[in-house]
Amino acid sequence: FNTSNYGQHILKNPGVADAIVQKAELKPTDTVLEVGPGTGNLTMRILDRAKKAIAVEVDPRMAAEVTKRVQGRPEQKKLEMLLGDVIKTELPPFDVCISNTPYQISSPLIFKLLSLNPPPRVCVLMFQHEFSLRLVARPGESLYSRLSVNAQFWARCSMVMKVGKNNFRPPPKVESSVVRIEPKTGAERPNISFEEWDGLLRICFGRKNKKLSANFGTKEVLSILERNYRSWCSLNNIPVDDSIVEDVPDVDGDDAMKVDDEEDTEWNGIDEDDDNPAFLKEFNESNLVAKTPSRRKKTRVGELIREKVRKCLESTHLVDKRAAKCDENDFLRLLAAFNDEGVHFS
Ligand code: SAM
Repeated sequence: FNTSNYGQHILKNPGVADAIVQKAELKPTDTVLEVGPGTGNLTMRILDRAKKAIAVEVDPRMAAEVTKRVQGRPEQKKLEMLLGDVIKTELPPFDVCISNTPYQISSPLIFKLLSLNPPPRVCVLMFQHEFSLRLVARPGESLYSRLSVNAQFWARCSMVMKVGKNNFRPPPKVESSVVRIEPKTGAERPNISFEEWDGLLRICFGRKNKKLSANFGTKEVLSILERNYRSWCSLNNIPVDDSIVEDVPDVDGDDAMKVDDEEDTEWNGIDEDDDNPAFLKEFNESNLVAKTPSRRKKTRVGELIREKVRKCLESTHLVDKRAAKCDENDFLRLLAAFNDEGVHFS
């Protein structure tokens, strides 16, 4: 039973545990989701203040320890323990999420919480300090990423406090910090599909320091857009013109949209901050039936997609911009332009 991947760093400073739970401003009527209760340090404090705690723990030994801690006490009735991986668990409704998060699931957990609709009232989460900084990074800052845009688009995020390594047993390798995430609700919540928005961002941030025209001009992205356009057309009874324009050799560099943009940027060729760099490759391999042929058949619909991409980037004045410097209004304008053309991202 290998627990080395579970990020088990138990919070040993009671002051920090108190501060985390206080920051959630719990009401006595709240149901709280706790991710990874470990030995129950936060759980006991949550049970003191809330109506109910639902704890999701992947390690049965940890789950057993928390269950034992409440056994025969009034808190026992208020605790529901779900054994399993929180990312794969279908979550029951809850008002607030509190977690000293196992670091390896930081990203999927945030995306899962942000995509809930209706969302929780507030989340108070401990992360690696650098991950927290990415959540609050602004356009142009080095840690700005797809995660930053999503976090700030769907929620208000603020840094609560930095927590040194020695507050944990065993101490992790890096510093931590607590963030407060307040998802937007009601009229404030953007009326946009989460998947569509994130689909656009995945392409824009494929390489965040490259021009958007380069990210949108790759064969992989154009195939995704074409596939989505075909589904949209079939839903709307619009015929697709599959006729062949010409049969051209598929040599690198024949992409009309491809631009030589390395020379005029500070980009150093290392995309360590890019989100999910393997995404497009994986997507391509799993979704395209045919391997790219050595000769590419230029179809009318393929050309139409290229034309739509060019038009959308030009009309929004984003052809030469890079995701690293775009703000959410830029992405919103771009999404609206694509949607007007029948091009979708999910
Ligand atoms: N809450 C405790 C505390 O603050 O002392 C423990 C926090 S420890 C950093 C992370 C906990 O999450 C561990 O108990 C670990 O077993 C659990 N965990 C790790 N991966 C998980 C997953 N995918 N789903 C649910 N729990 C997980």
